[in-house]
Amino acid sequence: MADKSVILVTGGTGLVGSAIKYVVENGEKRANEEWVFACSKDGDLSDTDSTRAMFEKYKPTHIIHLAAMVGGLFRNLKYNLDFFRINSKINDNVLAMSHEFKVKKVVSCLSTCIFPDKTTYPIDETMIHNGPPHNSNFGYSYAKRMIDVLNKGYNSMHGCEFTSVIPTNVYGPNDNFDLEDGHVLPGLINKAYCAERDGTEFVIWGTGAPRRQFIYSRDLARLMIWVLREYKEIDPIILSVSEAEEVSIKDAAMSVLKACDFKGKVTFDASKSDGQFKKTASNNKLRKYLPDFKFTPFDQAIKETVDWFVQNYETARK
Ligand code: NAP
Ligand code: GDP
Repeated sequence: MADKSVILVTGGTGLVGSAIKYVVENGEKRANEEWVFACSKDGDLSDTDSTRAMFEKYKPTHIIHLAAMVGGLFRNLKYNLDFFRINSKINDNVLAMSHEFKVKKVVSCLSTCIFPDKTTYPIDETMIHNGPPHNSNFGYSYAKRMIDVLNKGYNSMHGCEFTSVIPTNVYGPNDNFDLEDGHVLPGLINKAYCAERDGTEFVIWGTGAPRRQFIYSRDLARLMIWVLREYKEIDPIILSVSEAEEVSIKDAAMSVLKACDFKGKVTFDASKSDGQFKKTASNNKLRKYLPDFKFTPFDQAIKETVDWFVQNYETARK
């Protein structure tokens, strides 16, 4: 990116967007770059006119497209139709305007939870469209899969450089710590904080047996900036820690309890859904490009997230 670039980050105030902002402001920004971090107050991207107005205002040359309706297992179970319709509209608007305004490159965000439920492991980038996703989040999954279809279509018909990344479960500062709507790690952090404060028991939902690969938002941010600058493929790339670093929900909860110094009683509520048992993803493609990339150790990143939550308790989303 030699010329002056205006990089618009949609969803720039959320978990991933704020991590990109942190990384950009802590050494990654280049002299020829202007970064804009937009949220829904800057315009509703599910509305075409509002999306066009945002593009007219910022005239982006590059886009990291994060804006989406997002939630953990329990929000997905309740609102599958909304996840499909709202995210489909947002993605169609953002990519249509990117084409209309001749944006040079767009990096959009898929997720490992959109892969077929019945599959072989590890999952890799070639398998997105192989079969139906898990029932719990079919709306979110089909909307996300269509980004890959749009990217291929815009490339084959118009030569656009629109690509996507596939992160695993993300966590970090500025996450949504809401117990019903958020993902597992922020939910467990909020629960541990309240249980420690109130002297109540700490409840892990489900059996604790499902397995997940977690990526720290600030590691993901560094990788997404690399994708924006260096990655030339239209096909997506999985951004994940290795398969060996997959942990059970129970083990993840124990890391949270250690970081919170929680000493009370721990129980499981097996009446709650376990969701998808696992979605183990291969990071071989990433490792071919970046063999030396260092992920933040899980316990360290959990501690940083817990400390952020405690320090920002009053204003955190919860
Ligand atoms: P998040 O914290 O919930 O942030 C969502 C962002 O999108 C916010 O800035 C929000 O703005 C914006 N937004 C939502 N609806 C919008 C609309 N209609 N118009 C304009 N902006 C809108 O989400 P996140 O966890 O950072 O996720 C970012 C991306 O990563 C998403 O595409 C998500 O699907 C993907 N991803 C997330 C995870 C994960 O574990 N969190 C895993 C894999 C992939 P307001 O706050 O103003 O509403
Ligand atoms: P997923 O990875 O897309 O399924 O979504 P989540 O991040 O919400 O993780 C869901 C998994 O964590 C399921 O196995 C849940 O049973 C388990 N879990 C345990 N405690 C919690 C909690 O407090 N909140 C959430 N969201 N999930 C929890």
